[in-house]
Amino acid sequence: MTAFFQKPLWLRILVAMVLGVILGFGIRPEGYLNGLIDGEAWSAALKLVGDAFIRLIRMLSVPLIFVSVAAAVVSIGDLSRLGKSGARIAALYIPSGLLAACLGVSLAMLIQPGAGIEAPAGLSAPPVKPPPTGADILAMFIPANPVKALAEGDMLSVIVFAILLGIGVLGAREAAKPVADVLDGAAHALTKLVTYIMELAPIGAFALMAWAVALMGADALVKLAALIGTVYLGCFIYGFVVYGGFIKFVLGLPILPFFKGMSEAMAVAYSTSSSNATLPVTMRCMIEKLGISRRMSAFVSSMGATVNMDGTAMYICIVTIFGAQLFGIPLDSGQLVGIVIAASLGAIGAAGIPGGSIVFIPLVLGIAGVPVEVIAIILGADRIMDMMRTVVNVLGDSAAAVAVAKWEGELDVDAYKDNQLREAPVAQSQG
Ligand code: ASP
Repeated sequence: MTAFFQKPLWLRILVAMVLGVILGFGIRPEGYLNGLIDGEAWSAALKLVGDAFIRLIRMLSVPLIFVSVAAAVVSIGDLSRLGKSGARIAALYIPSGLLAACLGVSLAMLIQPGAGIEAPAGLSAPPVKPPPTGADILAMFIPANPVKALAEGDMLSVIVFAILLGIGVLGAREAAKPVADVLDGAAHALTKLVTYIMELAPIGAFALMAWAVALMGADALVKLAALIGTVYLGCFIYGFVVYGGFIKFVLGLPILPFFKGMSEAMAVAYSTSSSNATLPVTMRCMIEKLGISRRMSAFVSSMGATVNMDGTAMYICIVTIFGAQLFGIPLDSGQLVGIVIAASLGAIGAAGIPGGSIVFIPLVLGIAGVPVEVIAIILGADRIMDMMRTVVNVLGDSAAAVAVAKWEGELDVDAYKDNQLREAPVAQSQG
């Protein structure tokens, strides 16, 4: 048993998933445990265990997005740098997050991974809400009462308030130092808490996988396989075609050295599901293989690991559309725009740790009016998708680093082409 707990988390989750599937088939009405145990009672108990895990995650959604966005703004240092860094983020990270989110929405609408089965019995779709008016949209962004927005988990309002609070803290300088420290400390503490909660993921994955299979049978696996397939396809398109195209056509550099140079970081990202944990390897690949100056790679990759998560933005969109399809909820264009914006913002707020984005999914589901039960259905398989979206997140940081380094003359193009530094380039010594 102790040996099991010493295995890497991803392996424990995978084993738990498989065991969950086996148990799930057993406790179905026609299952192999039929007559031996009370399948319905087991299913209800498993759902309870899974719900406990989901509640732990939901508990962190609002506080985490609030403090992490406010702390990120404060960490920029002062208002003039906020303008400069803000412009950089706006120019590079925001469009790429939005594009990834749009690709996620388009692929999910095209492939329809959640369509084709009845909404699982016992789970009902919420009543259809009337489309939002202009005043509703305004209220979504600008909260008249931020405490109410926090209490009700209005994601966009919370983010706007957090950004403005961050600006206020920067403006007040020394007088607001204690607030800056509290925000920073709280962001660290909550991120740590997500890591602890993810240690329980094998239990959650086991219980929720068994419950989903007991409820939907093989349909659950077919749907999850379709979801995983859609996410992987999206990640391949974004990671290889979009970034590859950007490197080739926007930056005018050969593509192959980019992917070859980043291969080690990609492997680490895939196995750890954490942009943060991969950061040292990402930086080493950027410096030693891509010829990016040390200074630039440190700046862009550390900022990117926290705010630039294209794989995550795409994933949140795909899951939301998947959920809407599963429950037969029609989405109008206003809601689709809301999903794209919220997913991109969620990706900015998400921590670069395993399952970092899960805490934001309930908030985006809320915008689309999709029941939060969707999380119970997908969570068992989240890790497999986390591995791939983390690769895209890391590749996105690296593509951004190559771009900024090239534009600012801090890229050793010969080293990039050869995937190795031959002599200390001028830009390196500046670092
Ligand atoms: N695991 C991802 C990362 O570290 C975040 C996420 O859950 O999407 O980049």
